Amino acid sequence: MKLHLRCKWNAAAMLLAAILSAPLLANDNRLIAEYDRHIGPELAPYVALLEREDGIPSIIGFINESIPFNAPVILKIGAEDGPLFDPQTNEIWMPVEFLAEIDRRFTSANVVETQEELDDVVLDVVMHTLLHEVAHAIIAQFSIPTLGKEEDAADNLANVLLLEYVESGNYITLNAAEMFALEDEAVDTYESADFWDEHSLDIQRYYTTICHVYGAYPDEHAELVDEEKLSAERAETCLEEYATISYDWLRVLEQISN
Ligand SMILES: [Zn+2]
Repeated sequence: MKLHLRCKWNAAAMLLAAILSAPLLANDNRLIAEYDRHIGPELAPYVALLEREDGIPSIIGFINESIPFNAPVILKIGAEDGPLFDPQTNEIWMPVEFLAEIDRRFTSANVVETQEELDDVVLDVVMHTLLHEVAHAIIAQFSIPTLGKEEDAADNLANVLLLEYVESGNYITLNAAEMFALEDEAVDTYESADFWDEHSLDIQRYYTTICHVYGAYPDEHAELVDEEKLSAERAETCLEEYATISYDWLRVLEQISN
């Protein structure tokens, strides 16, 4: 797994903010983080990680510069369930245990070498997850037609924002894909619930996500064309698939900003 630089997205976020309408920067309909003060001491290192400048402050800054909301959205860090978006309350729930789970999966898979790298990977997966939940929020708030599984549409928005506007967003997206692959590896046998779940299977989310990375950066990510990852035939279709989802999502963002 490649190490990558974080927190270089300000220029890209400003570019997106310039594309979107100026008024959204001036209104109060923003994502706001609230920490539950009853988070157990065993989770304190993860809270400290989230509170890092390149953690929640940067992620929320990017979201508020990139995404219009038509009501305030509260990000409840330390919620007892989730990650999820609740359309009744306009809350995104992010349990700190989710960070512990990311840590556990990457650590036991031996795919990271240093604590610094692990911390970055955890924040990458958190960022992708928050962008996914934000997609649910704007789909609900603006009644955006999804024409397919909303869960897939939410993954698509997370991928597009990272791949279009965040420096090293391709590596952040690949780390998010790796989390799906690791979740899939934990599955021994599929049950009916896996198939009727509103989400695509983790392994499908993995392949779709790396397909989008290839679609956005075919020259930089030729290594993804591999029979174990994307066949040459599938990789070819990823170019058009990614072009379509990025065009569609950016057009939607432009429309709801006006
Ligand atoms: Zn979702």
